[in-house]
Amino acid sequence: MTGRMTVKTYNSTVTSCLLCHSSNTAEVTSLRASDICRLYRRHFDIDPSSLLSAGTIYLRKCLACGLICFDPPDTGNSEFYDRIQRNNSYYMESKHEYHVALAQIREGDNVLEVGAGSGNFAKLLKNNQYTGLELSSKAVKAANDGRIILQSIQNHAISHPEAYDVVCLFQVLEHITDPRQFLEDCIRCIKTGGKLIIALPSSDSIMGTLINFPLDMPPHHVTRWPDSVLRNMGKLLPLQLLLLQHEPLPPRQIRFIRRSGAIARIYKLFNRPMPLIDFSLFKKCSTSIAVLASLVGLPAVSTDSGVHVTAVYRKG
Ligand SMILES: [Zn+2]
Repeated sequence: MTGRMTVKTYNSTVTSCLLCHSSNTAEVTSLRASDICRLYRRHFDIDPSSLLSAGTIYLRKCLACGLICFDPPDTGNSEFYDRIQRNNSYYMESKHEYHVALAQIREGDNVLEVGAGSGNFAKLLKNNQYTGLELSSKAVKAANDGRIILQSIQNHAISHPEAYDVVCLFQVLEHITDPRQFLEDCIRCIKTGGKLIIALPSSDSIMGTLINFPLDMPPHHVTRWPDSVLRNMGKLLPLQLLLLQHEPLPPRQIRFIRRSGAIARIYKLFNRPMPLIDFSLFKKCSTSIAVLASLVGLPAVSTDSGVHVTAVYRKG
């Protein structure tokens, strides 16, 4: 469904894939940093220009593993995240992955959550051994849970090899500049036969078609994950996929997803490629029509899934 993901026919060897390190990548599209900043200003009243290191930002697809990466993969700092979190209307939080994870965690399992935030998942694990890692001191303070500590996975992995039965990453991996190293550090912490649970926005969902949606761009998200990448992770890392589950369509997202689906259909109807950013009159008109369609409940989208996917692996 990701029309914009049609790649150009030439290969680029300028940068390598952030996951498999192949240099066999193809340019999907390029964006002006100034346009990304314009979107952040419009939606969040933030100017992230100091965080973006290049005037042009490329979106590349790895032709070896399928991961889609922004280049350069510039990420936000704590001030950026604090500002974003003040306006949470654009955050599409998902609790579905918590339920998927809880079904995988047995009594007595020792659980590590990387990116524990203010402790929402921790609250559900009162009867397990639990450790949460978090890099925001504000979030650690807000969590007020002695089990959540201010530490990176890199440092934690050094002192906790094979210490955990389950390691969870909820909405973290897409924010990471070096997801390969990050995953290797997580896996190092898992006992042989233990589980790694990864939840992130799926680029095979409606998320992959959104226009003018800055949260799926640097300095917020720097990678996009099709299901095929999650399915084939075992070719790169010592992991065996046990489960891949898309969340059901959350009721609070129905209107948003209908509207986004309607916009995608209008672009398709007029045979227009779907850009990541579009300030044209055509986009404005499409949005107005889509808003009307979503208000009257036209079946403008056929999906029954939300934007998030959860993958469960066994370390082997
Ligand atoms: Zn790759």
